[in-house]
Parts: sequence; C-alpha cells; structure tokens
Amino acid sequence: MYENFTMFLLKLPESCKKFVASDCIEFHLPRKHHDCPFCGSPYTYVHDYRKQNLCGFAAEIKYIYKRRRYRCQDCGKTFSESNSFIERYQQIPCSEIEHIIQELADPVPSSLIAHRHGISTTTVMRHFARATKEGTASESSLSVVISLDEFRGNAGAKFQVVVNDLQHRKCCDIIDDRSTVTLYDKIRNYTLADRANVELVSIDLSPFFRKLVEECLPNAQIAADKFHAVRLANDALDSIRKEVQAGLDPSQRKWFKNARRTLLKREQKLTPKEHINLSRMFSFSEKLTRAHALKEEYCRLFDSIDRKDFAARLHQFRQHVHDAGLVPFARVLKTTEQWKEEIWTGIETGYNNGFTEGCNNTIKVLKRVCYGFRNFENFRRRILYILNNEARKSRRTKAA
Ligand SMILES: [Zn+2]
Repeated sequence: MYENFTMFLLKLPESCKKFVASDCIEFHLPRKHHDCPFCGSPYTYVHDYRKQNLCGFAAEIKYIYKRRRYRCQDCGKTFSESNSFIERYQQIPCSEIEHIIQELADPVPSSLIAHRHGISTTTVMRHFARATKEGTASESSLSVVISLDEFRGNAGAKFQVVVNDLQHRKCCDIIDDRSTVTLYDKIRNYTLADRANVELVSIDLSPFFRKLVEECLPNAQIAADKFHAVRLANDALDSIRKEVQAGLDPSQRKWFKNARRTLLKREQKLTPKEHINLSRMFSFSEKLTRAHALKEEYCRLFDSIDRKDFAARLHQFRQHVHDAGLVPFARVLKTTEQWKEEIWTGIETGYNNGFTEGCNNTIKVLKRVCYGFRNFENFRRRILYILNNEARKSRRTKAA
C-alpha cells in the first residue's frame, strides 16, 4: 500500500525536487487530476500549497513536502492530493515508521532509536503502541504446552512471571506480579476452554506454581524443569566445595575457587586438562570426591530411558546419599522425592525451561540497556514484541 520513501524520492522527476539548503530537499508531486472526494465532481482546480516538514529519517537530511491542495468548483470544499508515502496527519513517512518499529525488535533503548531518527521517545512509543495493537490479538491465549517461570523485574512488582508457549517457542504473556492474588486472577482470566486446553506445564520446583497449575489448569500434567533440578545438586556440591576451601591456606584457596567450574561441569564434557584439575581438587578432600560422585549420579537420572530405569536410578541414588551422609545431598534427595513424578514427566516429554531461560536472558539484556522501565505496560508490550519477532527469532536460531 504505502511505498518506501527513498524509492519514491528516487523515482520522482528531477523537476519536482530541489535543494533549498545543503541539507534540505523540497519536493512536490507531479500534478494529477483529482475528483472531489466530497461530491464527486471532476471540476477541481489547484487551490494552494502547504509546506510540511517531514521527520523520522536516520539520515542527516531534511525534507519539505509541498502538499498540493485542490478546491472543488461545485461544492467549494478544499482537499489535499493523494500520495503514496505518508498517512494523513502524520509527519513521518510510512516506510520510516516501519523501520523504527523493526528497530524496536532488538533490545536497545527506545531513546536511542528516537535519537537516531531525530524524534522524541514519546513519538517512538506512540507509533509502537499503535503498530502492536494492530496485529497481536492472538497474544492472549494459552497453548497446549506452556512453561511458567519467574524473573526479577524492576518495573512495578519485584518479580514477574513469564508464560511461554513451548511448542511454538513464543511468549504468551508476562504477568507483572508474583503475588497469589494477581497470578490467580490473571490465569483465571483465560477462558475455561483455554485453560482446559493446556496439557503440560513446565515449572521449576516451586510448590506455589504446582498448586497454581493444579487449581487453575484442570487437564495439565506438570513437568519439573531439569535445569532447576540439576542446579539443586550443583548447589549442594558447591556448598561442600566452599566448606573445603575455607580450610585451605590462602595460596591454594584462590586456585580452588577458580576450579569451581570444572567441579560443576558434567564429567563427560571435561577436557583432559580439566580432568587433571578435578583429580587435584579431589586430593584435597575425600568428602568432595563423594559429593562430586553424587552430583554426577544425579545428572544421570535425566538420562533414564524409561520409567523403570528412572525408578532404579533414583533407588541407587537414594542408597548412595544415605551412605555418604552429606547433609546438602540429603536435602536434594528430599526435594527430588517430592517431585519425582514431575521430574519423570519432564524426562519423558523432553520439555524443560531451556527456551524460557533464553527469554529471561533477553529480558535481562533489555532491562540493562534501558535502565529499567517505569511503565510496566510499555515494558510488557516491548518484551512480547522482541521475543515473538519472527525475523529476530530466525536470526537467533541461525546463530545457535
Ligand atoms: Zn465537490
């Protein structure tokens, strides 16, 4: 419908454009017959010209559009000529508005985009609100497989909850508050049919989310996220590392601290050099050696091929935790027992919060570069736009 402004200008006959200053081009359209839009009369004549300053360009050049106006001989009304590059009452050509909207799909401050185009942030956000209101009605429905995850926000409430569609890898919603009242309210705002449609929800090991799913999503199975579960075992191992480290003399302490990554990494992924470092760490403490073996065994739970295999591996792990007598791992075991059904569902279905973690990183980047958002609605709209932007998503997939 509307054409690219640069192309339009290139195609415009030379006689229609002139430089009025070294950085300013004035132009008008070739004269064309216009019927009166009010009474349909063909008897119209040029009434006057109105100069309109165009803005929103990334280049350091100004454009003045000499808009031709006609008057109708029959009804006496005046009207503007039709054009292909700018909407009525706008100062920014349509193609430039499109550029601005596209630039907002990257996590950069809107003030930077505003500056680049020589317009105010308010103008940028006004066009953004208008553009996103137009094509995003499908945003507010749940999908068959979703994840719930919280992240630390700095707009409005402290924590926000992200609802993602794991099948289509998109973000369904961001809820501005983790408080029970808000969250239940927002989830129950979805129709019952929509909620009944949800078959699987991936969550971290949070009793609060579990209760929410059980009470609001009648047909949903729960999958406990494997990354959160593994983190429990890693935290247990790391607490033992700190204990051992505290008993070392300062010269060794620093090396020990640096070797932390090696300790937490899956053993099968270690490089030969890291293997040597790991053995060296073990030589400091037998307890740490035992804890590391438990962590590795815990990770192998997630390689289970079927339910029976999972039960057998968990049984083994239980035995070894009892034998090892390490309090942090006793706690890991306790949590795992409480979540074993959900953990198995996660393994069986292969769904986890990996996609969600990626989204949370993008959110963090946006918040960092934008120094926080004061207005949650703006923040929410922007995040949904960035996360669900097709062009950006395909770029990300290619990079991975
Ligand atoms: Zn008329």
